[in-house]
Amino acid sequence: MPSIKLHSPIPLLAPRDWQSELSQIIRSVDELLEFTGNKPGSLDELDTIDSDFPLRVPRPYASRIQRGDPYDPLLRQVLPIALENLSVPGYVSDPLDEANSNTMPGVIHKYHGRVLLILAGSCAINCRYCFRRSFPYQANQNSSAEWDLALDYIRQHNDISEVILSGGEPLIHSDDRLRQLVSSIADIAHVKRLRVHTRLPIVIPQRVTSGMLDWLTCSRLQTIVVLHTNHAAEIDDEVFAALHRIKSCGVTLLNQSVLLKGVNDDLETLKQLSERLFEAGAMPYYLHLLDKIEGAAHFDVATPRAQQLVGQLCATLPGYLVPKLVRECAGEPAKTPILALPDNYFHSTKEGL
Ligand code: SF4
Repeated sequence: MPSIKLHSPIPLLAPRDWQSELSQIIRSVDELLEFTGNKPGSLDELDTIDSDFPLRVPRPYASRIQRGDPYDPLLRQVLPIALENLSVPGYVSDPLDEANSNTMPGVIHKYHGRVLLILAGSCAINCRYCFRRSFPYQANQNSSAEWDLALDYIRQHNDISEVILSGGEPLIHSDDRLRQLVSSIADIAHVKRLRVHTRLPIVIPQRVTSGMLDWLTCSRLQTIVVLHTNHAAEIDDEVFAALHRIKSCGVTLLNQSVLLKGVNDDLETLKQLSERLFEAGAMPYYLHLLDKIEGAAHFDVATPRAQQLVGQLCATLPGYLVPKLVRECAGEPAKTPILALPDNYFHSTKEGL
């Protein structure tokens, strides 16, 4: 049974503010291996590589990695390895065809009633399976005047009731900048909800400042924060407290995970993740099948195995703790739900997993 580590194996120093943590993220494979007690060259098939999608790992996240374990599920999410260089048919640079819904710089308008703003071209952490790892962020870096045009676009589409701040990592911006933007969005009468897609409170929990809670809650908009967490060990005591702070302000707190081979593709890990999220105030929302982004094929979990896992989760947990298993298909008007299948389905059909 995989164990959960909720306490850092590294002695805790006085916490730095989030901007200091951002400026001191780990950027090299050697530094990450040293920080996590692993030796370069001793990782067998996990041979590390330099990549165009560079390594970026905040120290608060790295401190949750089990020292000396090259197969640690948190380490696997961030360590660039040689398997990324394999060219696998079907794995492409834009698996969701987002270029087609990148209506104007900084704006992705894919689904009815919702629009997504690409607020930042980078993240605090680079997840090796990221479906936007080849996204043309450069072409989506807007000046203030261009952001005014993006707001005009929302004004002109009165069917848009929800604005999603995304990226990259939207919370990489200052609270003042985000407060201003949220205030402008709230001035558009037909927008009802603000959603923030973020991994920053997980990887640098100090990001949950009183300023952030202020702009999240001071407008007339209903606010939803959608976290990205894949393993219960990502939620240590500091993250737990940060999530509670968000939740206690009345913000709806959801989580989406990606089902990843070698990270969370077993029942006990998924069960612990759902329970830990709920304890911290977040509802398990989506469990995504991997988007077929080039360089990430080694993370893929076969669909029947995913269906079986979620079927087992349904048989083990109350329904509200079971995330929806979904796949995102380019051009579809919504995410495609994937049916959970009971364990005995596979025995009765003798279907291979
Ligand atoms: S935090 Fe999200 S957007 Fe950023 S690298 Fe990870 S998966 Fe991609």
